[in-house]
Amino acid sequence: MADLQTEIRYLKGIGEKKALAFQKLGVFTLRDLLSFFPRRYEDRSITKPISLAQAGETVCIRAMVADTPHLARIRRGLELVKFRAVDESGMMDVTYFNQPYRKDSIQKGESYIFFGKMELSGTRRSMVNPVCEREENQGGVTGRIMPVYRLTAGLNQNTILQAMRQALDACGESLPELLPSEVLSREELCQTRYAYENVHFPADFQALDLARRRLIFEELFVLACALGKMRGERVKESGLPLRDVDVEEFYRSLPFRPTGAQRRSVEQALADMRSGQVMNRLVQGDVGSGKTLVAAALIWAAWKNGLCSAFMAPTEILAQQHLATLTGFLSPFGVRIAKLTGSSTAKEKREVKASLLAGELDLVIGTHALFSSDVAYTNLGLVITDEQHRFGVGQRSALIGKGQRPHVLVMSATPIPRTLALILYGDLDVSVIDELPPGRQKVDTFAVDESYRERLNGFLPKLVTEGRQIFVVCPMVEENEESELDLKSAEEHARALQQRFPALRVACVHGKMKAKEKDAVMAAFVSGETDILVSTTVIEVGVDVPNAALMIVENAERFGLSQLHQLRGRVGRGRHKSWCILVSDAQSEDVRARLDILCKTGDGFKVAEEDLRLRGPGDFFGSRQSGLPEMHVADLGADAKTLQRAQQAALALLADDPALSLPEHRALHDRVDALFRSNADSFN
Ligand code: ADP
Ligand code: MG
Repeated sequence: MADLQTEIRYLKGIGEKKALAFQKLGVFTLRDLLSFFPRRYEDRSITKPISLAQAGETVCIRAMVADTPHLARIRRGLELVKFRAVDESGMMDVTYFNQPYRKDSIQKGESYIFFGKMELSGTRRSMVNPVCEREENQGGVTGRIMPVYRLTAGLNQNTILQAMRQALDACGESLPELLPSEVLSREELCQTRYAYENVHFPADFQALDLARRRLIFEELFVLACALGKMRGERVKESGLPLRDVDVEEFYRSLPFRPTGAQRRSVEQALADMRSGQVMNRLVQGDVGSGKTLVAAALIWAAWKNGLCSAFMAPTEILAQQHLATLTGFLSPFGVRIAKLTGSSTAKEKREVKASLLAGELDLVIGTHALFSSDVAYTNLGLVITDEQHRFGVGQRSALIGKGQRPHVLVMSATPIPRTLALILYGDLDVSVIDELPPGRQKVDTFAVDESYRERLNGFLPKLVTEGRQIFVVCPMVEENEESELDLKSAEEHARALQQRFPALRVACVHGKMKAKEKDAVMAAFVSGETDILVSTTVIEVGVDVPNAALMIVENAERFGLSQLHQLRGRVGRGRHKSWCILVSDAQSEDVRARLDILCKTGDGFKVAEEDLRLRGPGDFFGSRQSGLPEMHVADLGADAKTLQRAQQAALALLADDPALSLPEHRALHDRVDALFRSNADSFN
C-alpha cells in the first residue's frame, strides 16, 4: 500500500521520465505531491451563451456540433479538424490543429462543453483547440473549477491531475492532523483531508476558500513552531554574565544626548548580557537612527568587564568609518582599538593577531578577515555585525562558533515590518530604534521624469559651488538584459556627466570593480576629492558623507522602495539641506504610486510596509536572503493577520511542550524538523 513516503514513480502513469520531471518541481514523494499546490484556478463551472462571450475571453460554452467535423490536410505536418457549434444564442467555428482524431471523436448532433478563448472577427466567433468534453461526461476537465499547476518540460496538467487523484485516494486518509483540535475549532478551520481534497479538486469556491484558509494557517503555524522552538533551544545556551555597569558614565562623555530609543536598545542588550545566557539580539533602526552609538555603549560595557569586542562591517570603507567613529567615542576611556581587514598588510595582520591573542586589545574592527581561521581571541565577549542583510544568516552563526560563546548583536538598517520581524528573525530578540536624533532634516524627495533633466542639470554645478557633493545611482545592468530597456549604465552616465560639466570632478564606482579600486574611489569621495559620485547600488549600505546633499537615482522604477529609502539615507546626514530626486520615465500607475510613497514619507518602517504590500515578500527579501523556507500557499506579506494568529497558537503550544515531544505532537514535530532541514546551514 502506498503511503506518504512512497515515491511518485509508483503511481500509475508515472514512469522514470515523468518522475524526473516531477523532481525538478521538488516533488519526490506522495507527500510532496500533495503539497504541490495549484498556482491558480480556472473557473470552468459556469457556461456562457456564445453570443455573450467577449472577444478574447476565456470561457466555457455549452453547444451542439452542427455539422460533421471535416479533416483538411493543409500541408505535411499541418492538419485541421473544423466544425461549427451552436447554442440558442449563436454559432461559433471550432478548429483543432494537428488533432486528427477529433474528426471521429466529435459527433454531429451531440452536445459538448468547450473551454477556450473566444476569438471574434467581425461578427464571427471562433475557438481554436478548446478543451472539450461531452456534456453528459462533464466534471472531468470542464464543468468544475480546474486547478492550474506549475509545469516543467515533460509534464502537463493532465498528468499532474491524474497523479494527484491517485495520491489523494491512496493516502488522503493518512495525512496527519498537525493542528491541535482547540486551534481548529477556535480558528474555524476545516479538517486536513477536506483541505487537501478541495485545494486540488475544489467542489466549489467556498470549499476552495475553506481549504486554502486552513492550509495557509497550517503552513504559518508550522513555520512559527519551528522558529519558536529554535528560539527556545537557543535561550538555554549559557553565556558570560556581565557585571552591572553604569552606562551613564559613558553617555556623559558624548557630545549629544542619546535618544530614548537608543537608551532602550542599550538597556535591553545589557539585560541580555547580564542574564547569564548568551545574547542574540538584532537592533533594527532606520538609516541615521544612531545604531553605532548603541554598539559603542555595549563595547564600552564589555570593556568595563575586561572583555574584548569584535565589530564586523561588510566593506573596508565601512570598517574604516566605524574605526574613526568608535575611536572618537571610546579612546578617551583608554579602550585599545585596532583594525583588521583584508587589505591590512601582512605585518599589520601579524601584529593585530598577536595582540588579540595576548589579550592586549579591547576592540577590533574589520571585515570578514576578523573571523578567518587563523585569528584567535582571548576574552572575546561581544561580537557586533553591522548591516546584517549583507552577511546572511549563515555567516552570522559562523561567528558564534569561535570557541567561546560571545554575546552577539546584529545591526540592520533594513526596516522590516513589525509583523514580519519576529518571524524573519525568529531566532533573535529584536530591539527597534524607532526615533531619529533630534534636529534631523527631512530629505526633500521628488519623483520626476526626463522632462526635468535640464533643471536637474542646472542644479548640479550650483550645489557643488556651494561646496556640497552629489550621489548619482544607476541600476545595475545585467549582461543579458536587452539594451532596448534604455537603462543608464553607471559608467556611461559618469562619462556623459563629466563631458557636460568639465569643471566638476566626476567619479564612478560599480560592482564589477575590484574591492580595492572601489574603496579607493569611495575614499576619494568621502574625503571630498570628487564632487559627483556615480555608482551602482554598491554604495547602498552605510557610508557616511555628511557633505553629500543630493541623491539622484536614475531609472528609479528599477529599485525596490526599501532600497530607494536606503539610498536616500545617504544624504541628509550633515547639517545641510538635502534632496533626493527619483528620475523615472516609466508611465505605469504602479511605478508612480510607489515613488509617490517615498515623496510622502521619510519613515523607513512605513516605506517597508508599503513595499511589502505592493511587491510581496518574495521580492522584498529575495527568497535566498531571508533564510526562510519557501512557502507553498501562504504569502508572508498578504497573510500578516493569519501569521499573527498562527504565531500566537504556536507560542501557546510551545509553552506547554517546548520540544514538541508529547506523542500527540509527533506529526508536528516531524514537520517542524523537516522544514529547516534543507536550510540547515543557514539556521543552525
Ligand atoms: P545608523 O543608524 O545609520 O548607523 P549612525 O550611527 O551612523 O546611524 O548615526 C548617524 C549620525 O547621527 C552620526 O553622525 C551620529 O554621530 C549621529 N547621532 C547618533 N546618535 C545621536 C544622538 N542621540 N543625537 C545626535 N546625533 C546623534
Ligand atoms: Mg550605520
